[in-house]
Amino acid sequence: MLEKVYLEAPFRVTDLKQWVYCPRILYYAVCLPDVRPITFKMQAGIEAGHDEEGRESRRSLHTYGLDEGRKEFNASLVSDRLGLRGIVDMVIWLDDEDEVIPVDYKLSEIAGTHFKLQLAAYGLMLEEASGLIVKRGFLYSIPRRKADEIPIDNRLRDGLTATLDAMHCMLRYETMPEPTPQRAKCAACEFRRFCNDIY
Ligand code: SF4
Repeated sequence: MLEKVYLEAPFRVTDLKQWVYCPRILYYAVCLPDVRPITFKMQAGIEAGHDEEGRESRRSLHTYGLDEGRKEFNASLVSDRLGLRGIVDMVIWLDDEDEVIPVDYKLSEIAGTHFKLQLAAYGLMLEEASGLIVKRGFLYSIPRRKADEIPIDNRLRDGLTATLDAMHCMLRYETMPEPTPQRAKCAACEFRRFCNDIY
């Protein structure tokens, strides 16, 4: 568990995805604010999320293997302890079982590590806000129209802790991370012109 208190929330939950993809992209984004446009892919994700909310309101909770619960859409969350802020697509409240479950919609068909970290972040912020324990979350794949249950276990929590520690360390000391070893990502990167040490 994180023991630090950052006293502000400088990062968005979506920054976790950027960090996993290439830490240097997040470095540029936080150290060079306002230079990064919203890409087509990002805008498509935002619009798909809005569309999915309409479908979700008509969807049964059986999609998540649940008989009943209370849905809350677009819940704003913030945590000084984690130094994070974000809006989770949906929260399922199981009032009778003192359980709260975050749900994140994704355009991807695969529940990748970066998506799991984001889900865990929402889960920990929900714990902090509600006082309830979050045991699991769901990643809903829009293309597959299927929800994958993701245990928010100690392994995932430890991974989130390590990732957030590294992100906050970068921000505090303004240390530029190493470039991604997966150089194929650099070919289409909008920050490529800033990375003079890649070849
Ligand atoms: S060019 Fe490569 S190393 Fe540089 S920010 Fe983009 S993906 Fe990362």
